[in-house]
Amino acid sequence: MTQWEAVIGLEVHTELKTATKLFCGCPNAFGFEPNTSVCPVCLGLPGSLPVLNAKAVELAIRVGSALSSRVQASQFHRKNYFYPDMPKDYQISQYDVPVNAGGAVVLRSGKVVGIVRAHLEEDTGKLVHKGGDGRIGGADYSLIDYNRSGVPLLEIVSEPDISSAEEAKEYVSELRAILVATGASDGRMEEGSLRVDANVSVRPVGSTELRTRVEIKNVNSLRSLGRAIGYEVERQISEYESGGSILQQTRHFDEASGKTLPLRAKEEANDYRYFPEPDLPPIAPLQAEIDRIVGELPLLPAGRRVRLFGLMPGASSDQVEVAVTEEVWPYVVAGIEIGVAPELVLARAANELAALVGNAGFLTPERFAEVVALEERFSPSQVKLLLKEAVSFDGTVDELVAKVGLSSSGAEDVRAMVGEVVEANPEEWRRFVAGDAKVAGFLLGQVMRKFGKAISGAQAKAALEELARGAAGL
Ligand code: ADP
Ligand code: MG
Ligand code: ZN
Repeated sequence: MTQWEAVIGLEVHTELKTATKLFCGCPNAFGFEPNTSVCPVCLGLPGSLPVLNAKAVELAIRVGSALSSRVQASQFHRKNYFYPDMPKDYQISQYDVPVNAGGAVVLRSGKVVGIVRAHLEEDTGKLVHKGGDGRIGGADYSLIDYNRSGVPLLEIVSEPDISSAEEAKEYVSELRAILVATGASDGRMEEGSLRVDANVSVRPVGSTELRTRVEIKNVNSLRSLGRAIGYEVERQISEYESGGSILQQTRHFDEASGKTLPLRAKEEANDYRYFPEPDLPPIAPLQAEIDRIVGELPLLPAGRRVRLFGLMPGASSDQVEVAVTEEVWPYVVAGIEIGVAPELVLARAANELAALVGNAGFLTPERFAEVVALEERFSPSQVKLLLKEAVSFDGTVDELVAKVGLSSSGAEDVRAMVGEVVEANPEEWRRFVAGDAKVAGFLLGQVMRKFGKAISGAQAKAALEELARGAAGL
């Protein structure tokens, strides 16, 4: 029996976070009253002329640089088709000369997914179907909101390098993290600011052919993306196995049934009658501008991972994944920069801090770093309590400690506590003093089990080593 593999290429459309639309001064804002952020340009009224938004071009170049694309001189084209969400009857897009060509996204697994191009285009308006189940079929009538018309989009097209539904989800989440890190997008799939079309075909394992593909439009969550691809791959395999063939089609994913259903025969590029947009000059970014944008790129998620694993080769990859997210990363940086042990920063950031993100209040990255640094003096559970209290406390760290009413254990007390454990475990202690480092963990474990509320692991370790040096007469 033939073994099959999936062949997947994704088109990700991301709305760019500009103040205004791509070709006019209307606010680029989500959630306005319908048809209030519109003007003659984005309504496509006769005689209006587009003026290119420089900020959108800058963001596009930023993303291209982050994807290691070749940033190049580019041009806009008109893509002609009729649909009521697009009053001009053509979309201004880029065609054969996109602003970014080539590039790659490296997944967590190390797999490289090639990028074909990342080009600029304008978004369309939005149709709302009334009556029936909200889908176009069976609706009584439809309403059109043109607020989204002309919002800048970057369309990022991947090579067909993705080989499973799981890998497609990994690709989108990595790309999303890059888009958010560059400041180009807010990455909100549920608000439609990130939309994914999946191109899917299958082929016998070992072959390099590209068979007919099906395009699944506008999948609106990672979970749906995985389900839609999973269904489509199975459908195509059983079609081939029963001697059938696959039609080049655009399909829609139906959430309720978990199936993909045909929407229309897929258009070919020549159906769109692309031609150069006569109202916009070509874009020719100066090399100095490109260099400036590249120089301003922040550390991207992949670089953040490398930095953490470089500091802690044995770090837990689950903790690292939490730490490299946009919300948590500034806290990690602040902790490491003031010299707290990276392991400690990572643990507190990936657990206690991650649980507070979005509601962190007065717990800024700097404050987080200061509190985590207190683990020299306080126990882990005390520090966790301080982190929680810091959210609603507007004062210095010393005031915070006083308010929470904590007292730290002095060196004398710590020595006494460690001494107690040493006395209770004479055999392990003898081996530890004789240089058997393996029992250290056991002894520390005993100390922390008994006194963990009052002292920190670092304090216990220092006291244990000090006692051992004394016992060995060093
Ligand atoms: P179109 O405008 O027709 O959608 P694009 O070039 O924008 O064309 O996108 C084509 C997408 O389809 C790319 O992501 C590409 O990787 C993918 N693709 C091309 N051929 C195949 C195939 N045989 N199977 C799966 N994906 C494919
Ligand atoms: Mg397409
Ligand atoms: Zn407008």
